[in-house]
Amino acid sequence: MADLTQDFKHKALEVGFTSVGITTPDQLRHLPYGWVGKVRKLHTPEEAFPSVKSVIMLAFHTWDPGFFMNIVSPQWRGYGLHPPGEKIEGYYLAHEVMKNKAWLLVDFLWKRGYEARPSTALPNKTAAIQCGLGCQGKNTLLVTPDHGPRVSLISLLTTAKLDTDSPFEEDLCGDCDRCIKACPTKALKPYTIEMQRCMTYSVESPESPDVPEDVREKERRLVPRPTSNSYIECATCITVCPIGKPRD
Ligand code: SF4
Ligand code: SF4
Repeated sequence: MADLTQDFKHKALEVGFTSVGITTPDQLRHLPYGWVGKVRKLHTPEEAFPSVKSVIMLAFHTWDPGFFMNIVSPQWRGYGLHPPGEKIEGYYLAHEVMKNKAWLLVDFLWKRGYEARPSTALPNKTAAIQCGLGCQGKNTLLVTPDHGPRVSLISLLTTAKLDTDSPFEEDLCGDCDRCIKACPTKALKPYTIEMQRCMTYSVESPESPDVPEDVREKERRLVPRPTSNSYIECATCITVCPIGKPRD
């Protein structure tokens, strides 16, 4: 499958992804699955697509904070926390952009006789490390050699048996601690996050009682809300990172 793998990777870069890595469902068995806080449920590759043979991780360079814009449904807002399993009506701009690009790759594989489908429900960061795309940074995000943490991730599950990549072994952070110092709510310690102190969790969980009041207050003040149904996630721990930082 060397030719198909190379052709696929070439196509992934051509449609606009920054980097692409491949692994197998077996290599991802040890990852954490289930609910992340109260906002997102993670599935194994087989739960998402029973006939999956390869897991492809695709990174997209999010060069502008606008990519972190969420448009939430007015039906959802004001109804309190959604129970586990309930679909949240809303759109995250980076995901919508990536899904459109990922469907072009689904089409590429279909034309060669393989099934494929995109997924946003894998433990993307740890899967991307397994695929060699980068390491976990002290801000707990994926940090890539070229763009630091300025990437969003989407996975593609396929019945094609593609050649796999080696896990990323290096720690790119070294002595740096800029993201930890810059976090407005002090949510970060090296390589760990207190999720209830993160303004992204706070804004996604508008009525959750586990968010401290000082975090709520900062979220109301600091998280940009371009319209009455939208907000732009905090990206401070991303924008301060020196790795891959664009020059002014
Ligand atoms: S997203 Fe904002 S609040 Fe959350 S850890 Fe990063 S800097 Fe802190
Ligand atoms: S700001 Fe520094 S410590 Fe934080 S993720 Fe980037 S390199 Fe690592």
